[in-house]
Amino acid sequence: MLPIECILRDIHDEVFRQDDWGVPAQYIPELATVSPEQFAISVCLADGQCLTAGAVDKPFSIQSVSKVFALAATLGRIGDQLWSRVGREPSGTSFDSVVLLEREKGRPRNPFVNAGAIVTTDALLSGREPKQALAETLGLVRAMAETEDVFINANVAASEKATGARNKALAHYLQSHGNLQYDPDLTLGTYFHQCAIEMTTRQLALAGRSLARLEAAPSVISRAHARRINALMITCGHYDGSGEFAYQVGLPGKSGVGGGILVIAPRVASIAIWPPGLNHYGNSHAGTRAAAMLTQATGWSVF
Ligand code: GLU
Repeated sequence: MLPIECILRDIHDEVFRQDDWGVPAQYIPELATVSPEQFAISVCLADGQCLTAGAVDKPFSIQSVSKVFALAATLGRIGDQLWSRVGREPSGTSFDSVVLLEREKGRPRNPFVNAGAIVTTDALLSGREPKQALAETLGLVRAMAETEDVFINANVAASEKATGARNKALAHYLQSHGNLQYDPDLTLGTYFHQCAIEMTTRQLALAGRSLARLEAAPSVISRAHARRINALMITCGHYDGSGEFAYQVGLPGKSGVGGGILVIAPRVASIAIWPPGLNHYGNSHAGTRAAAMLTQATGWSVF
C-alpha cells in the first residue's frame, strides 16, 4: 500500500488529467462564477497527522456541509425532540424538492434535504435571535476545527437570498403545515448565512475528526450523536445520489453545492475534498470520483 501522501498526490494528478469538471452551482450567482478547475483534498488520521494535496488553504462555500454542523448543534440543544418535526429516511429526491412535503404533510424526510435543514435551523433558533443561533453553529465548527479562522461570507448569503425562490417556497410550505416556528424570512435568513460558512479543506477535515471519533479530536459531539449523524450522512448525505455515493465510496459523506464533500472513515480518518463543479445530483463531480479513488486505494470502508 502506498503512503497516504502519495495516494493524495496521485488523486490530485488524476483529477487534473480528466477534462470533465462538472458545473458550479448556477442558481447562486456568487457561486456560478467560481472557476471549476480547482481541487483540494485533506485527510486527518487517527495519529493526529493531517495530509493534503492541492489548494488546501483556499476557503470555499461549504453550503450543505454546514447542515452536519447545524444538526450537531441542534441535537446538542434539543436532542431527540427534533425528530418530531423531521424524519430520518432517505428521500430519493433532489436537495430542493417539494414533492414529498405535500404527500407527507410538511414533515421533511431527513435533516439534509433543504426542507429538513430549514426545519432544523428553525429548531436551533428556539427563542433566540438569528445571530445567536448562527454563533452557536459557527462556534461549534470553530471548536471542532480548533481554529477561530472560519467566517460567514455575507455576499454569498445575500446572493442566495436574492435568488432563493425555491427555498422560500419550501419554507412557506412548511409554515402552512405548522412546521415552522418563526417567520419564513427569519428562518431562511439564518439558514442562508449558515450555508455561507467558508472553510478550507484543511479546516473541514479537522472539523470532521469529532465525527470520525479520532483520538486527537476535541470532544465536542457526544459519541451517540456522532454515530447517528454518520448514519444519516451515509443514507441521506448526497440526496438522490446517496445510494451511488455509498456504492462507490463506502463511507458516510455530506456534499454541498459549493463542491465540498466531508467524508468520515470512523476511527480511521476525516477527509475533506473540494472541486467546485457539480454532477446532475448537485453533488461534487470530481469530488465524488476523488473520494472513490481514495477508498479504493486505502481500502477504507464501513462495509
Ligand atoms: N444553500 C443551498 C440551498 O439551500 C444548499 C444546497 C446544497 O448545498 O446542497 O440550496
